[in-house]
Amino acid sequence: MLDQTPSEYLERKALRINPLKTCQPVGALYAALGVRKCMPHSHGSQGCVSYHRSFLTRHFKEPAIATSSSFTEGASVFGGGANLKASIKNIFDIYDPDIIAVHTTCLSETIGDDLNAFISEATVPEGKLVVYANTPSYVGSHITGFGNMVASFIKQLSIPTSAKCDKIGLLPGWVNPGDIRELKRLLSLMGLEAIILPDQSGVLDSPMTGTYQMYPEGGTTIEDIIALGSVKAAISLGYACSTEASLAIKGRLNIETSLMPLPIGVRATDNFLMSLSSLSGQKVPLDLESERGRLIDLMLDANQYFHEKKVAIFGDPDTVEGLCAFCLELGLKPLYVLTGTPGDSFVERVKKILRSYQETYEVKIKAAGDLFELHQWIKNQGVDLLLGSSYGKQIAKAQDTPMVRVGFPVLDRYGHAYNPIVGYRGAIRLAEMIASTLMDRLDRDCADEDLDVVM
Ligand code: SF4
Repeated sequence: MLDQTPSEYLERKALRINPLKTCQPVGALYAALGVRKCMPHSHGSQGCVSYHRSFLTRHFKEPAIATSSSFTEGASVFGGGANLKASIKNIFDIYDPDIIAVHTTCLSETIGDDLNAFISEATVPEGKLVVYANTPSYVGSHITGFGNMVASFIKQLSIPTSAKCDKIGLLPGWVNPGDIRELKRLLSLMGLEAIILPDQSGVLDSPMTGTYQMYPEGGTTIEDIIALGSVKAAISLGYACSTEASLAIKGRLNIETSLMPLPIGVRATDNFLMSLSSLSGQKVPLDLESERGRLIDLMLDANQYFHEKKVAIFGDPDTVEGLCAFCLELGLKPLYVLTGTPGDSFVERVKKILRSYQETYEVKIKAAGDLFELHQWIKNQGVDLLLGSSYGKQIAKAQDTPMVRVGFPVLDRYGHAYNPIVGYRGAIRLAEMIASTLMDRLDRDCADEDLDVVM
């Protein structure tokens, strides 16, 4: 079907074809699932939240719980205040969460519902909490919604205090539960304890026990979110996901926070560990140095398969920036770097990454792009590898180009949510996936007499 994509490039302003993003509430829901005993609540129609839940469920292969204000014609015309108040009462009565995290949808934003006013008039049982975030879907993307919800937790729950504890705060940005487990391991090896917000490990990668648990054991506790005001310093990962929350930590809690890229690849992981080292006062332990050495060894061993291979990288901005930097470290040649999330700062950051690796060749970089456009670029100049979400598979098939699935969403494979792409371990995994994919292609394409088990 995608073979119909024309190679002639036409400027489009008002149309996205095969979008590379989804709507804000998906991100708000994902962020809220990283808080323990939290029920994400979608203030809009049931159709929206059905889509948001199924989207997350298909990526994580785990149930993504959420409730809805269930708008019908009445609420759409007269406002959803009555629906939200009834929902809050019913959710606490029936599902007994500790906290409800309400986010808006296109509909409730368009009619101008005032969540703050509605929630202040709602009946909230003693000891229970309700937070909210405005997540209009016609602005930004799921990444914006994620950032807005994380910032709301901080703005509405964390309490500033001058009494500091020995912990640090870590905002991991939009990563998989497997990445959060890896970040925790790195923190522990660096002798640091952290409040991580949000923390989907143990929630969206919970083990099969045979018994359904509506609220699994994982997630940031409410006590920890409140105590975020007492950490001695904070690190926020990912410019697109964490800028808003990082500003809340600085502004509201008056805590020094470093905003840095996701630790994908060698240099970004080095920088992350050096930040941890300056916060803990500890040197990077030998175990981690050895891990780094093994990564470099692998990169050198497989270099002839990476060298100068042209890559198209697409997906969420923070992940794409990290992948772009790691591709350059591997000797790959990113030719197209694309995100669906709007924001010119993405283009500037990618240019800066390219400059920092002394790359001067021409790279097409775009924010608010779509996969139709990427396909057109590829039709005009092909690549050796696609690196991105499952939605690239149609281009991969149409162009007969190998693809490594990474980022969000990965809907057509298993295990990705358990395994990291961050840290040296994550980089080893990524390098292995990329090398294996390129080598599989060589095996497939070579003449029979050239097929050898030693490569
Ligand atoms: S109507 Fe808006 S909030 Fe609902 S699914 Fe569509 S884009 Fe998302």
